[in-house]
Amino acid sequence: MGSVTNKRVAVVTGGNKGIGLEICRQLASNDVVVVLAARNESRGAEAIQNLRASGAVDVVFHQLDVKDSTSIANLAKFVESQFQKLDILVNNAAESGIVVRHDEFRGFKDGKGYLMEQPYDLGEECLKTNYYGTKAVTEAFLPLLQLSNSPRIVNVSANFGKLQWIRNEKVKAEFMGIENLTEEKIDEIIQKFLTDFKANKLSENGWPLTCTAYKISKAAVNGYTRLLARKFPNMLINSVHPGYVITDITSHTGILTATEGAKAPVMGALLPDDGPSGVCFDEMQVVSF
Ligand code: NAP
Repeated sequence: MGSVTNKRVAVVTGGNKGIGLEICRQLASNDVVVVLAARNESRGAEAIQNLRASGAVDVVFHQLDVKDSTSIANLAKFVESQFQKLDILVNNAAESGIVVRHDEFRGFKDGKGYLMEQPYDLGEECLKTNYYGTKAVTEAFLPLLQLSNSPRIVNVSANFGKLQWIRNEKVKAEFMGIENLTEEKIDEIIQKFLTDFKANKLSENGWPLTCTAYKISKAAVNGYTRLLARKFPNMLINSVHPGYVITDITSHTGILTATEGAKAPVMGALLPDDGPSGVCFDEMQVVSF
């Protein structure tokens, strides 16, 4: 791969497996040069081998831990030195904030339950990765995206980020009121959530009871998507729910393959110039937040 390219250039976070890997594959097959970013070097290298074996040529690995500011800065420096711009950023990396007990996991398919725990510490990490990681990576790449003729940001979100999961009317109204929403307000909501989570006041204060941190993290991502879209009208910036997909994060429950799950994020990444911005896609349909 040459250091300067006329092709579009994409960065995909959490590109080593699941939906992220398939986003990389589908972007590469659409004539996009793909920087597959993953936190683990050997898992990243293995993913690149997998893509090359299936015919993808313009794919390159770079290390990225979205919780590590030095790692983010190093990736941005790499993209700047190699390509002098970025056309597509796919914020895909995420964690669930829950522990599923596999020995007792029976999945959804046979109608039986499974054991799921949501320790506070994992919830905090989930917010760091899913929301603050997305934000930090985006901030690092905004200058390079500004140098693109067709900048796109896809925040891979989730139906679990919909406000219907939050019963706290004040928080819902703050997320909905885009005129008054700010990044500081999102921080305040997250701080209040974490305080209530720690104090065992989830139910009392109307927060989601299951997958609680994940739901708040994705609601925050959706709020951030809308804020960014207003701030950067020259870019197309959207949230995308990929569908319910068979990957590690769902303990391989799900109904779509990762290949199917990648379709909507890839659609968001390749939107034509007159495409929407600041919206939420549920697979291929625009839906309300
Ligand atoms: P997955 O297979 O578990 O993949 C998650 C990816 O995120 C992995 O590559 C993981 O890397 C990476 N990651 C986690 N923390 C990271 C960090 N700190 N820095 C860098 N990378 C990190 O799950 P998936 O289903 O493909 O999820 C992809 C996206 O789709 C996520 O945003 C998820 O919330 C969203 N989503 C999925 C579903 C679904 O049904 N599967 C539904 C709605 C939304 P490691 O391999 O190193 O852990």
